[in-house]
Amino acid sequence: MASTMQFQTRLFIDGEFVDCADGGRIEVLNPHNNSRLAEVAEARSADIDKAVAAAWKAFPAWRAMAAADRGRLLLKFADAIEAHTDELARIESLDTGHPIRDTRGLDVPRTAATFRYFGGMADKLHGSVVPVEQGFLNYVAREPVGVVGQIVPWNFPVMFTSWKMGPALAAGNCVVLKPAELTPLSSLKIAELMREVGFPRGVVNIVPGFGPVAGQYLAEHPGITKIAFTGSTATGRKIAQASAGNLKRVQLELGGKGANIVFDDADLPAAIGGSAFAIFHNQGQACIAGSRLLLHERIADRFLDGFLKLASSIKLGDPLDPATEMGPLTSMMHRDRVLNYCRVAREEGGEVLIGGAAPSDPALAGGCYVMPTVVRARPRDRVCQEEVFGPFVTVTTFKDEEEVLAIANDTVYGLGGGLWTRDLQRAHRIANRLITGMVWINCYKRVNPGSPFGGVRGSGYGRDMGFEAMLDYTTPKSVWVNVEAQIAPFYRR
Ligand code: NAD
Repeated sequence: MASTMQFQTRLFIDGEFVDCADGGRIEVLNPHNNSRLAEVAEARSADIDKAVAAAWKAFPAWRAMAAADRGRLLLKFADAIEAHTDELARIESLDTGHPIRDTRGLDVPRTAATFRYFGGMADKLHGSVVPVEQGFLNYVAREPVGVVGQIVPWNFPVMFTSWKMGPALAAGNCVVLKPAELTPLSSLKIAELMREVGFPRGVVNIVPGFGPVAGQYLAEHPGITKIAFTGSTATGRKIAQASAGNLKRVQLELGGKGANIVFDDADLPAAIGGSAFAIFHNQGQACIAGSRLLLHERIADRFLDGFLKLASSIKLGDPLDPATEMGPLTSMMHRDRVLNYCRVAREEGGEVLIGGAAPSDPALAGGCYVMPTVVRARPRDRVCQEEVFGPFVTVTTFKDEEEVLAIANDTVYGLGGGLWTRDLQRAHRIANRLITGMVWINCYKRVNPGSPFGGVRGSGYGRDMGFEAMLDYTTPKSVWVNVEAQIAPFYRR
């Protein structure tokens, strides 16, 4: 099936697919077997300059378009994504290793839903009138910020196009988006669909390229007025520094180390199933993964009994097989990084309860696979502090609420966290005291286009999705009007 697929492999600039200026190429691999899927043009500074110029050329008309018309285009685009679900899902599974049942059932539908949500919001966000002193009218208009740069990672590439571009476009901005060098294929397909549904030339530009080259250049670019980034905390710091040159606005969605707390009154079967989803969905390559399991000591053994059985039964395999529940990690380099954490865990005295290695199945030997891994560890161990970003979860026990809150909040991150309990008061008490941008009670990793997504501390600032995201793509302009001519200015005329 893979060999028959056609991919877009050129940069998308000013409404056209074009070759890059100096002929660089990015090799795109299938993580299931490391065979070559495609070679994609590599954007460098000259290409980014062209993309930024095209976006500014498109901006006046896009900004002036009635918000309802921008919305209508986004709604039409959401329909086009749905109509191409199978193709987009296959591209995403081939490129990322994400199982087809997830790309078809979650990633692509969520991508369409997010564009649709912001399409609907385009003409709902409006300014306000401020009750100022008599004789004056003061109104606040919300204006687009201009041309925004967007840099996204490889773990949910198609979905992130909608999280980033949806609010930006709805608010009247033009976009230059750089997908991750490992996974550029679905965003180029998105560009193709955008052209088909009739987005004006230059409103969206997609420029695959390497982070330290194209990404860094985009973050520094004086023609970019806002940079929105999803990726690691280390790169987020570089983006923030690079943005200082022209003081561009910055939004950062960074790493996480989510605490997933199971109290002794939890519905254990629900907590076991939800906790497995929290860490093993997308092979654990999720910033909001529940990667630290904190178990009340009274139920720890019972919980682990069920959890380890479930984790051991997860079906690893070819992402294109509809029966596959866990695919490969997205690259060999990342697989080695995750396997290295298994070694670190052992060196630190952690007990590897299951996994901790690549699978022995010869059919998976050429791919980037890692078995579901559960490690008993102490809260200050490296494996409990550093983001592994794989199917790797640590288990620690606790005695009471104070202890578990101290452990949960003892991290540089603050993205998401969850808890399982039947005690309503405790649920809200803990939610209130977790230092995170998102909390899930008796569930985990729920997301919705209407709900703001983002973190605090080392997990970044600003939000994807919801009204907050749309507001973040606008600037308030305060306009004063003298509505009573007799009011004199302070100085003589
Ligand atoms: P990464 O930071 O290495 O790369 C992310 C993107 O940044 C890629 O497009 C890359 O090319 C680009 N990049 C790399 N160096 C750059 C530089 N110097 N200047 C500009 N751009 C540069 O991250 P990754 O390893 O690809 O992705 C995994 C990370 O992303 C994890 O830490 C994960 O938690 C995080 N993440 C966060 C969220 C969130 O919403 N908070 C969501 C998904 C992933």
